[in-house]
Amino acid sequence: DAIGTIEIAGIVADIAAEMGAAAERGTVASYIPPLAQVPPEKFGIAVVMADGAVHVAGDADEAFSIQSISKVFSLTLALGAVGDQLWQRVGREPSGSAFNSIVQLESEQGIPRNPFINAGAIVVCDVLLGRSAPAEAIAQMVRFVRTLAGDEAGSIGIDEAVASAEQDTGFRNMALANYMRAFGNIRAPVERVLGVYFHFCALAMSCRELAMAGRYLMNGGRVGGHSVITANRARRINALMMSCGHYDNSGDFAFRVGLPGKSGVGGGILCVAPGIASIAVWSPGLNASGNSQLGTLALERLVQRTGWSVFEPR
Ligand code: GLU
Repeated sequence: DAIGTIEIAGIVADIAAEMGAAAERGTVASYIPPLAQVPPEKFGIAVVMADGAVHVAGDADEAFSIQSISKVFSLTLALGAVGDQLWQRVGREPSGSAFNSIVQLESEQGIPRNPFINAGAIVVCDVLLGRSAPAEAIAQMVRFVRTLAGDEAGSIGIDEAVASAEQDTGFRNMALANYMRAFGNIRAPVERVLGVYFHFCALAMSCRELAMAGRYLMNGGRVGGHSVITANRARRINALMMSCGHYDNSGDFAFRVGLPGKSGVGGGILCVAPGIASIAVWSPGLNASGNSQLGTLALERLVQRTGWSVFEPR
């Protein structure tokens, strides 16, 4: 690799300094108080290299609400549980409409377009509930993410204030779940499915923890000699992150960054450079499509300076 460790450390530090000085920071999500209160000045970045080296800068050790980034981990669990049968209940096409859109569900018979829009992730939760009670499904998710991140101290957890605020305001998600239930694509009671979904959205992690948790996606499904998921499925999850990971802005993210990535309205992005690095960025201000304004800019600069885009020759 032409880019050495020292150079990466410098690039990461430079980017954090540039983001600290940025004027256009986007707008912090305001639909629930615990997100609305997060200071817009925050910026963190963590890069975990394939050889295990970790480079962090800014607020990389501060926990934030990972929100829709959890959809990557719940999809991984569901594929482990039911395998490719999952694709009978959820599609693999970018939606081209908002993350919480209900319109396509009507023409597509209650089958969500992909597992990274809300409707798709709600189906994924229903699949996980086919095997366990809600409290078990939530505990299994927390254990899974802690294991992926190597979080032996158990510092990763659910922010209950976020989970209950999601519950109090999640009328659209309730509508999506009920609508899919009418088509038979939600099987467990809707309240239970949503309880699981809202708790997954409320997972709180730092950039460092998130980048550590994403290692299996840069390593063909493996972490430290242990297989999390098959190489084939890891490759497909990366493909879905590239095509569907940024809501209605996924094409623009591929154009600017050129890496599989999944964003959340908390301002985090998990991004994978296969074979090279697992990267997490966080800045709470969002662009018009609900993706982190500075997180995206930071990733754009990182790939410009490293040549890590999957569309560049190796
Ligand atoms: N938790 C929010 C919801 O389900 C947003 C998730 C996200 O897109 O990050 O509406």
